[in-house]
Amino acid sequence: MTIKTLKERVARAIDEHSEQILEASRKIFSQPELGYKEHHTTQIAIDLFESLGLEVESPIAVTGCRTVLNPQQSGPSVAILAELDAIMVHEHPLADPSGVVHACGHNIQMGGLFGAVIALMVSGVLEHLDGRVVVMTTPAEEFVELEYRQQLREAGEIEFFGGKQELIRRGYFEDIDISMMFHALDLGEKAALVGPVSNGFIGKKVRYIGKSSHAGSAPEEGINALNAATLGMMNIQAQRETFKDRDRVRVHPIITKGGDIVNVIPSDVRMEAYVRARTIEGMIDANEKVNRALKAGAYAVGADIEITEIPGYLPILRTDSLDELFKQNVEALGFAGEVIDGGDFTGSFDFGDLSHLMPALHPMIGGVRGALHTKEFAVIDEQKAILMPAKAMAFTIIDLLFDHAAQAEAILESFTPLMNRESYLQFMQQISKTISERHMS
Ligand SMILES: [Zn+2]
Ligand SMILES: [Zn+2]
Repeated sequence: MTIKTLKERVARAIDEHSEQILEASRKIFSQPELGYKEHHTTQIAIDLFESLGLEVESPIAVTGCRTVLNPQQSGPSVAILAELDAIMVHEHPLADPSGVVHACGHNIQMGGLFGAVIALMVSGVLEHLDGRVVVMTTPAEEFVELEYRQQLREAGEIEFFGGKQELIRRGYFEDIDISMMFHALDLGEKAALVGPVSNGFIGKKVRYIGKSSHAGSAPEEGINALNAATLGMMNIQAQRETFKDRDRVRVHPIITKGGDIVNVIPSDVRMEAYVRARTIEGMIDANEKVNRALKAGAYAVGADIEITEIPGYLPILRTDSLDELFKQNVEALGFAGEVIDGGDFTGSFDFGDLSHLMPALHPMIGGVRGALHTKEFAVIDEQKAILMPAKAMAFTIIDLLFDHAAQAEAILESFTPLMNRESYLQFMQQISKTISERHMS
C-alpha cells in the first residue's frame, strides 16, 4: 500500500458521497444557530457520525460532539475540527428572521469535516494509518452575546466564552497531539491560503458610575458618567501613537448605554471594548494603557469605574511543516500555483489558543465571495469550498500517520509548545478579573 493509493481511495470516496456531504452543509446553512446554542447543528453531526457506526460523545461544551474514528489504534492523535456556530448579519439576504446567518462559513467547515470523516471511514484507509483520528465539532467560535455567556458562566455551565477555550479547560485536547481545521475566505481566484497569522485580544466591559441630578436645574449636583466615558475614549485615542506598528494593535470601544433619560445627568454608562494585538506582550501592553486611559476619565470627573476583563483569543501561530504538507495536497488536487503562503489577519480566531499548545493547521479556503460577517458573503463554488478541503485534510492526515506516523512524529519532535494546559489556564484566569476604582465619597 502506498500513500498515493490511499489518497486516491479517499478522493474517490468523497466524490462518491459528494451529494450527501454538500446536502449536510446546506442543511446546516438553513438552520443557523449562535454560539453555545448549536443544538440542531450538533444533532446533524451526531446523526451523520452514528450512521457510519461511530460512537459519539455529546454535548462536550453545552453543545458540540466528539468521536474517534479508530479508537483501538495507538500512536499520535490528530484532531480534525469544525465550528458549529453562525453569526448575526441582519442585512444578509439569507439571514433568518432574527438576523442569524452563516456569514462566517462555518457550515462550509462542517461540510468539509463530514467529507473527510466519511472518506476516512468508508475507504478502508484507517487500517493503514499508525495514529488516531479524533473528530470534534466545536461550539461558540464567535465571541458574541456576552450577556448570554455571562449567564451560562454564572450558572456554572461554562468558564470561558470561546468554545475551544472551554474544551481545552475540560481536557478534550489533553490526548491530542496535532490539531487541524480550515476556514472559508474570499481569495479571489485562488484556492487556499496557508499559514495565516492573526491577532489575539482581551475583551472588556466597562461601567462608569456617577450621580444623577436634574440636567437643567442642578447639573452641578451630579457626577456625569457619560463625561467620564467620553474622556476615557479620548484618552484611548491619545495612546494610539504609542502602539508599536509590529504589534498591530486594534482598540475599538463602543458605548452600549449612554444614560437613562435626557434631562437627568447620566449616572450609569456602559461600554464594551476589545484590545487586540499580534503578540501576548503587545496585548498586555496595550491593555494596561487602555485601562489607565479609562480610569483617568473616571478620575477627572470624580466618578467610579468598574472594568471587567474577559480573556479573548490568542494570536494564531503557524506550524510551517503542517502548512507545507497541506499546500502540497491542495496543489496535487489540481490547484498548482493557487495556494498563497502566509496571510496577515488582525481579527481573531479561537483556534489561536490551540496553536499555543500543539502544532496546528488553520488554512483559509476559497470558493466563496464577499468578506466574512457581511451581507455579501456567499459560497460560489461548493467543489472548491467544501470538497477540495475535505480531500486535502484527509490527505494531510494520511501523510501524517502513514508509515509509523513518521511525519507526525517528526513534527512533534521539533515542536516546543509555548504553553501547556496548566499554564494556559493560569494565564486565562490571570486576565479574568474586575478592576474598580472609587472616587465618589
Ligand atoms: Zn467569524
Ligand atoms: Zn469563522
